Amino acid sequence: MNTYSRQTFDQVMIQNYAPADFIPVKGKGCRVWDQAGREYIDFTSGIAVNALGHCPDEIVAVLKQQGETLWHSSNWFTNEPALALAGKLTDKTFAERVMFVNSGAEANEAALKLARRYAFDHFGAQKSKIISFKQSFHGRTLFTVSVGGQAKYSDGFGPKPADIVHVPFNDLAAVNAVIDDHTCAVIVEPIQGESGVQPATPAFLQGLRRLCDENNALLIFDEVQTGLGRTGHFYAYMKYGVTPDILTSAKALANGFPIGAMMTTDNIAASFTPGVHGTTFGGNPLACAVAAKVVDILSAPEFLANVNRTSAQFIAALNSLNQKYARFKQIRGEGLLIGAELIDRYRGKAADFVKKAADNGLMILVAGPNVLRFAPALNISAEELTLGLERLEETLR
Ligand code: PLP
Repeated sequence: MNTYSRQTFDQVMIQNYAPADFIPVKGKGCRVWDQAGREYIDFTSGIAVNALGHCPDEIVAVLKQQGETLWHSSNWFTNEPALALAGKLTDKTFAERVMFVNSGAEANEAALKLARRYAFDHFGAQKSKIISFKQSFHGRTLFTVSVGGQAKYSDGFGPKPADIVHVPFNDLAAVNAVIDDHTCAVIVEPIQGESGVQPATPAFLQGLRRLCDENNALLIFDEVQTGLGRTGHFYAYMKYGVTPDILTSAKALANGFPIGAMMTTDNIAASFTPGVHGTTFGGNPLACAVAAKVVDILSAPEFLANVNRTSAQFIAALNSLNQKYARFKQIRGEGLLIGAELIDRYRGKAADFVKKAADNGLMILVAGPNVLRFAPALNISAEELTLGLERLEETLR
């Protein structure tokens, strides 16, 4: 008999989640086992986090090594793993400076505060407007839910931070209508992840870059979900050829060990002087050592080329399943961040498919009520992919 069951969750945990009926206890690669020893193929990678699968040997080795060396020393001291990781990220991106935090929400919180502070320093207190997009998702702190474009996450928590405007995604005219001298930043996900895997058009991101330049506003790309190889590019901005002023990253950065990063240029970073912003755990040696190894692997061109090959296979397989079973009206996404929007007959039923998939030994995600989301490990093997797709076929059938 297991000491803990799903019922224990209902007794002792705050009920802000409604987890699946089974409890995973072990994972390796793209396989997960539950308390009863039942095997699942994991097409979720912990919501685009375990990019190298569960417990990858080379990452476990770094975790153990650093775990026996130095875990935490606070930001009163710097540490070698943080410096090494910052060096790798600045080498591989447009950024010249990095700040480490512990999650995606914290990375965005830091980005939004930096944008406001930079505008305050250079233009004055009136330049505080933040433009964001309907249906966007940037995290669960009060500032990030307020900036996010989904009222269901921000209503009911008292007064929201002011001077935030939401306009439709992929609608440049709508941005043009609200952007002005008082705007300090535009924040955008290159692919809206949580709300249905909706890619931005290249023209939209290019247009945002131009409008930000014309109005002395900073362009923030939230790449918490799209970053680190997920789209088949190290960061999605590289595919679009549009360089932001601030880039946020988290999720896959340490393959599941909590860490986030906010990256920017020398000039903008100068507005964060000592004491202006901070976090106890951010940049701890354990997370940074793990992330440094993850970044080495995920940024390699041959690794990214393989993500694109697997993506093509995955999408082709989904299309052929759809020809057989006609469940989806659209299959979209980039790399291994794939959304399949259900036909109208199954509107609102994405969660039912997830449950059915679990019954068949397959873990998948939703992205809103109408879209199934697939975000397997980026190094999923051919055998795991085939097995997962067989279980998906059973589910769709
Ligand atoms: N930004 C985006 C685009 C996300 O997808 C998420 C999480 O799903 C977040 C921010 C928040 O990240 P975290 O849950 O690590 O705070």
